[in-house]
Amino acid sequence: MYNLILFGPPGSGKGTQSGKLVEKYGLVHLSTGDLLRAEIAKKSPLGVEAKKLIDKGQLVPDEMVVGIIDNCLEENKEAKGFLFDGFPRTVNQAKSLEKLLALRKTAIDSVLFLNVDHDELVKRVLNRGKTSGRADDSDEEIVRKRFAIYQRDTEPVANYFNEKNMLRIITGSGSVDETFQALCKEIEREK
Ligand code: AMP
Repeated sequence: MYNLILFGPPGSGKGTQSGKLVEKYGLVHLSTGDLLRAEIAKKSPLGVEAKKLIDKGQLVPDEMVVGIIDNCLEENKEAKGFLFDGFPRTVNQAKSLEKLLALRKTAIDSVLFLNVDHDELVKRVLNRGKTSGRADDSDEEIVRKRFAIYQRDTEPVANYFNEKNMLRIITGSGSVDETFQALCKEIEREK
């Protein structure tokens, strides 16, 4: 089993690169953002609750995303491995993920951090907002808030894995293909 966390700020290319990586390596893609948007589309009670927070640029509670991930792990017992995209976003989520994987006798193998310059990130997110229909991508105020929350709550997750010597920094400012090649090189070095 090979479990990979693709880590990075909003707009760093996690979604695009995850799609390509799961195809190449046969992993199950677990994007908490996508899973929450699916709940919103279904108008489930969890989706209704999540939408209020997502539209404001805030994180949803840890229990909510940890519960979703737990269910997905349970539903994909035969998986060759998982690619976690947009999760964990807090140190608490990171610790919960380690516990969920340990219960299943597996662990995180690699944490790849997509590093992109801040101005480029803002530009990418606002650009994506023009076509994605995502309210949280279109409003500059909300985008700014998401970056502030990223810095406050999510960057400590990178430090957490760095202290365990598990974090690998990948340049994410080049083209989609250049970034993909850099990610694959790192994965193959580690696998
Ligand atoms: P994303 O598509 O990963 O940018 O996620 C969109 C939004 O969903 C985020 O801004 C959060 O409001 C929420 N979200 C996604 N993943 C998480 C997570 N792991 N923890 C808390 N909130 C999350």
